[in-house]
Amino acid sequence: MKRIAVMTSGGDAPGMNAAIRAVVRSGLHYGLEVYGIFHGYKGLCEGKIRKLNRYDVTRIISRGGTVLGSARYPEFAKKEVREIAVKQIRDLGIDAIVVIGGDGTYRGAQALSEMGIPTIGLPGTIDNDISSTDYTIGFFTAMQTVVDSIDKLRDTSMSHKRCSVVEVMGRHCGDLALYAGIAGGSEFIITPETGFDKEQLIEAITNSNKSGKRHAIVIVTENMLNVLDLSKEIEEKTGFETRATVLGHVQRGGDPAAFDRVLATEMGEYAVDLLVKGKSGRAVGLKGMEYVDYDINFALNKKREIPNKRYGLVGRLK
Ligand code: ADP
Repeated sequence: MKRIAVMTSGGDAPGMNAAIRAVVRSGLHYGLEVYGIFHGYKGLCEGKIRKLNRYDVTRIISRGGTVLGSARYPEFAKKEVREIAVKQIRDLGIDAIVVIGGDGTYRGAQALSEMGIPTIGLPGTIDNDISSTDYTIGFFTAMQTVVDSIDKLRDTSMSHKRCSVVEVMGRHCGDLALYAGIAGGSEFIITPETGFDKEQLIEAITNSNKSGKRHAIVIVTENMLNVLDLSKEIEEKTGFETRATVLGHVQRGGDPAAFDRVLATEMGEYAVDLLVKGKSGRAVGLKGMEYVDYDINFALNKKREIPNKRYGLVGRLK
């Protein structure tokens, strides 16, 4: 093995830069040449690839976003498009690729691996929806961003005696809403895993209002319901003035939290170690205190473990 490449793909996440840095510096440590692929699978097909040196990744450990850029490129699901990518990789003599992204990115990596290109996947997404790791790179930073927003909303909600309905990202995974909701001391958390009983919610807010509580914070995972409609309904049925806030893309940005930098750095080093050992088609994860790797296919099909006990806790704190 002489030459490896690193790329970021799909939704960006804070800490991706720290992972890029770790791959570059570890690769150089082993005497490898390291290439950066810009703008995900799209850039790969377009040949947006250049050799990186250690100074290309100076100080990026603390920066949000991804210096390599990212892209959504659904065309990559077509074999004939991936063949263009394989040719680019072979023409440059690149022996293996580390891809950083979510499950879509893993599917692309798996497909490349089946076409004979060694790949390693690192979990980079704020959603924490990858079953082969307890935590994804970016999740802790996004959680803090959501908690900061909840704290601010609580200030104004209390001043005006209002209910706040807050939509949080996560695609189809409730972890961001759940963890941030707990840390923000919110009254109600609605996630795909908990399900949602509207009548129960309205009743609880009515009781809370009657008992003289000055505010209520309801956290909702995106793609579950329309938070504007829910806010209107809460206001009509409970008499509690209600506002909806969609946090949106601020959750993706910001300097990565220290834990995301550690996770990204250790996973980046682990990925290069796997390549040096001749492994391919693996997904790196953190399980408990250990870094682990799984077959990417297995990682994609593995059922996600839901942190059940934490839901009980939220119920008690209402
Ligand atoms: P994420 O990686 O954050 O889940 P996406 O779902 O958009 O984000 O996936 C990132 C990219 O991975 C897609 O834009 C596409 O280029 C590639 N990809 C997704 N699914 C597949 C697939 N089934 N086969 C090949 N490439 C895929």
